[in-house]
Amino acid sequence: MVYALDPRIHRVWRSPSSLQFGVDRAILTLDDLSNADERMLVALEAGVTMSGLQMVARRARADAGAPARLLERLAPVLAVPRGAEQESERGAGRPVAVVDGAGHTAVRLIEVLDAAGVDVRSGLSWTDPAVDTAAVAVVVGSFAIEPERHRRWLRRDVPHLAVVFGDERVRVGPLVDPGAGPCLGCVDLHRTDADPAWPAMAAQLHTRDARRETPLIGSAAAGVAAFAVLDRLGGGRSLSGSSVTVDYADGARAERSWEPHPACGCLTLPTPER
Ligand SMILES: [Zn+2]
Repeated sequence: MVYALDPRIHRVWRSPSSLQFGVDRAILTLDDLSNADERMLVALEAGVTMSGLQMVARRARADAGAPARLLERLAPVLAVPRGAEQESERGAGRPVAVVDGAGHTAVRLIEVLDAAGVDVRSGLSWTDPAVDTAAVAVVVGSFAIEPERHRRWLRRDVPHLAVVFGDERVRVGPLVDPGAGPCLGCVDLHRTDADPAWPAMAAQLHTRDARRETPLIGSAAAGVAAFAVLDRLGGGRSLSGSSVTVDYADGARAERSWEPHPACGCLTLPTPER
């Protein structure tokens, strides 16, 4: 087994004998470092086996227990052993995120999630097995997502995040937990409460492209959506029952929460029908 310091954690000397790991937050501070400790830290920077570390310690005239003691102190800042990391990142059973939609935002979102190590799929047909087993989906559309589109995710019990472009702002959220929170139908019903003509207008807008999806806005929306997806894959509840809008003119963000609508019935959905 190779021991190595986590290369993502920055090291900075507080004094000639005190080393801090982490800058914004001190994860670990080692005081009174000996010459042998320093040499072992140099070896650990590149990665070294226990026998290699013992050799470094011997040459620096440290006692035989020094390598184990140093490794114990360094536990919070050691890298995950290479074999284990590859298994967890590339192994089977990794949760799948599906992007349902096209355009700058979808492309950007796929890029950033892939770079973050997520198994992200797009362009899938409804019969693809990944659609049924996805841990989360992102549905990208304009003005109003067609009911047939979001209900398909609802029926499959797949949590789905809406990214909806309007003509003044893009809304990211809510992240719908089927049967446990407001759905995109609830959002439409709340909008209808505020403007009874909304269903008539929405019907005209379902297939209309907002044409406001610039690379700048797409990147902003993809950033908000990617954080919510990563949080969900990590077991979090970000944007569950809430949404963030990003204004096209100045990038200003506004958050609001959504309640299930009593007329929707999505919380008591009958037997799934696909
Ligand atoms: Zn609903």
